[in-house]
Amino acid sequence: MKVAVVGAGVMGSAAAWALRDRGAEVTVYEQFDDVDHARGSSHGSTRIYRLAYPDEHWVRLMEEALDGWRELGGDVLSRYGLVELAPRRELLSAPALDSRGAEWTYEIADERVRVPDGWAALWQPEAGVVHADRARREFLRGVEVQTGVRVESPDELDADVVVLTVGGWITKFFPDVPVRPTRETVAYFEHDGPPLPSVVELNERSRHAMYALHDPVHGLKVGAHFAGHETDPDEEEGPNDEIVAQIAEWTAAHFPNANPEPVGAQSCIYTSTADESFVLERRGRVVIGSPCSGHGFKFAPAIGRRLADLALG
Ligand SMILES: Cc1cc2nc3c(=O)[nH]c(=O)nc-3n(C[C@H](O)[C@H](O)[C@H](O)COP(=O)(O)OP(=O)(O)OC[C@H]3O[C@@H](n4cnc5c(N)ncnc54)[C@H](O)[C@@H]3O)c2cc1C
Repeated sequence: MKVAVVGAGVMGSAAAWALRDRGAEVTVYEQFDDVDHARGSSHGSTRIYRLAYPDEHWVRLMEEALDGWRELGGDVLSRYGLVELAPRRELLSAPALDSRGAEWTYEIADERVRVPDGWAALWQPEAGVVHADRARREFLRGVEVQTGVRVESPDELDADVVVLTVGGWITKFFPDVPVRPTRETVAYFEHDGPPLPSVVELNERSRHAMYALHDPVHGLKVGAHFAGHETDPDEEEGPNDEIVAQIAEWTAAHFPNANPEPVGAQSCIYTSTADESFVLERRGRVVIGSPCSGHGFKFAPAIGRRLADLALG
């Protein structure tokens, strides 16, 4: 089976890996000349991986993805643990973790993260970072990638099946796909010493708010979930200064050892559904993969396999 994958972000790369593993003849088409470009959603050094989710569905999907990451190899995961914060204990992911027998405790194993007075927190050890750039390279190892090729329509591709993993550009192909691209901002801070655990803050609706993770260059990367504005991915735009200021204030309150002055910032695109679920479907000869909502990276091996299933039947 000849399969064309459009988009060399982490989802197209994972799909190519899973398709090749199943014997398909795969070609990846990427519009930019460099697969390490910073115009989409998959650039940068690290992403959080965690089992801790309030919904059991996501815990199970992460378990499946962990198997895939281990099979991929290439040293793409670093297990630094996770601190999950919430205004009240009932909002934490403890019940979902228990339902899967996953290890966690209320004893926070790293005092370099400050838990605000009156807030609840849990420690989840099977968590940390995915080394994003290494992961994309491992998935694409041995795969034919044609860069500098902007695909306008699947009809122009000589393949039995076309997998569209084009991130924020998906509505340019299928305007009815229920997603919204937004321009998000992250900032970097100097933090010395051993790598920090990842941190996810939940709000009153157990939904993801602020987050932080190890950055191999500066020490600490921090972001504000869903703080950005709607955007056209074809437009170039940098980080938002007001969001950087908001991030710096949160960082100073939660990481007393970090230098509170940001040393860098970057923009990145979320492609989000209303409930943060993923769009994985087949329409005739085309498979649509839109698994983002700001939390897709960690699931890439499992998503890649689902897209391969949809493509190969
Ligand atoms: C700031 C930020 C922080 C995040 N943090 C985390 C985290 O900690 N943990 C986590 O699990 N997830 C996180 N995510 C989410 C995760 O990074 C994304 O879900 C994931 O990268 C989406 O990958 P993708 O391949 O779908 O999209 P992209 O990476 O955008 O890939 C799409 C590719 O398609 C190409 N393309 C588009 N149109 C065409 C065309 N017409 N022809 C050819 N090529 C085309 C684009 O150039 C691009 O390379 C974060 C995302 C952001 C933005």
